[in-house]
Amino acid sequence: MTSVGELLARGIERLRAAGSEAPRLEAELLLGRALGVGRTVLLAHPEAPVGPDAERSFATDLERRAAGEPVAYIRGFREFYGLVFATDPRGLIPRPETELLVELAEREIARRLAAAPRPAGAPPLRVADVGTGSGTIAVSLAVLLRRRAIGPEVEIVASDDSPAALELARENAVGHGVADRIEFVAADLLPAPVRRPFDVIVANLPYVRSDEVDRLPVAVSFEPRSALDGGADGLAIIARLLDRLPEVAAAGGLVLLEIGADQADAICRLVGERLPGWRCRVEIDLAGRPRLARLERP
Ligand code: GLN
Repeated sequence: MTSVGELLARGIERLRAAGSEAPRLEAELLLGRALGVGRTVLLAHPEAPVGPDAERSFATDLERRAAGEPVAYIRGFREFYGLVFATDPRGLIPRPETELLVELAEREIARRLAAAPRPAGAPPLRVADVGTGSGTIAVSLAVLLRRRAIGPEVEIVASDDSPAALELARENAVGHGVADRIEFVAADLLPAPVRRPFDVIVANLPYVRSDEVDRLPVAVSFEPRSALDGGADGLAIIARLLDRLPEVAAAGGLVLLEIGADQADAICRLVGERLPGWRCRVEIDLAGRPRLARLERP
């Protein structure tokens, strides 16, 4: 029987030849999937024998990956912010850069609640995740708020114009036991009119320039293009949201937008043009790249 170590070596070679940028990690994840164990177990037992069924299913997965399919779609899940999210072609795969958005949003919500506690019966703080996709941001926030024992004082609305994405987002909410804490709505950006303006709006909208989408790694072509393609300058959809902010954001409201690393100047210029009086600041991520625009309504 073939050993774990031999199969790993074979898998790494196959993925390297196919152009993978992380052949070792991906081979480990896929062999772990075939065997139903985590990567650490594989590394601790390179001599362990692998049965023919697992070997076959590993070979199948390697070919899927070699053909370009993302590992997260093959495994059906991806870790984000210490949580596990179901992933399939209905929604964009959660990306680590979006963790910054969740972190800042959570901090901001907690700060606002501390500054203005909501006694029972007072209207809740309203939070919107616009273009929720697989639900990553809304569900992570709901889980983090539950950990802080924050309940009905915060209301989370998650919207998407793709019914398929909303379905996946709902499944992720159910999986994390927070389906009762998020209202999912099918809408282009946000419903019009909104029931009550939002205090905090977060969004990871499509922001990749159309001509760049086709130059992204093959794996990205398995994801919904509608989640990535931000039009000729990448900011077409974000600009449409900016135009709606006067109507959907509360006075003193905060808007956090994930952006591309080269869009910091462009986004604040747009805000200056379309939202007089609003403040625009760009936050730097752990890698030192400007990936988040922070808009404040006076
Ligand atoms: N960060 C993603 C990528 O470059 C883009 C996500 C988005 O457009 N919202 O693949």
